[in-house]
Amino acid sequence: MGDKYADNVNMLDVMRKLQEAPTLRDVETLVKDTYPTWIVGYYHQYSGDYPSLTKNWHTICTAAGCTPAQILVVDDMSFSDDHTIIRRFADIFTNAGFAVRRKADLLPCEKCSCMIPVRALYNLLKQKGETVPETWSPLCIGCMLDEDAPIVD
Ligand SMILES: [Zn+2]
Repeated sequence: MGDKYADNVNMLDVMRKLQEAPTLRDVETLVKDTYPTWIVGYYHQYSGDYPSLTKNWHTICTAAGCTPAQILVVDDMSFSDDHTIIRRFADIFTNAGFAVRRKADLLPCEKCSCMIPVRALYNLLKQKGETVPETWSPLCIGCMLDEDAPIVD
């Protein structure tokens, strides 16, 4: 990750505003003001073909004492020391029930928009012995079986 999301000169100002931001919507506004390209999109769920992704997310929510909300796909993520602000933003969303994931790791099913890991992450999950489909596909299994049906948009 480059310096695109590194702490900037306004860090203290952002941190002060963050303490004053009473709702998640205020935080989101602050995110968009600070790093306009960071939030890529919100998605409802992972594909049921990858139960470990949902299980891990729900485990994190249980530990944080929150209810699963949505998958928040972000442009990039870093946990290094010079990314305090972006880490703080990610923590706030995580503690509010969001699964914060990099766009390089996931893509939405072309038909139903449930989230599917990219091929590299699929391979990793398979190596780890997690439940995954026999072969990788940009469509979830449900939509693949339904492939003869017309695409509605
Ligand atoms: Zn689908």
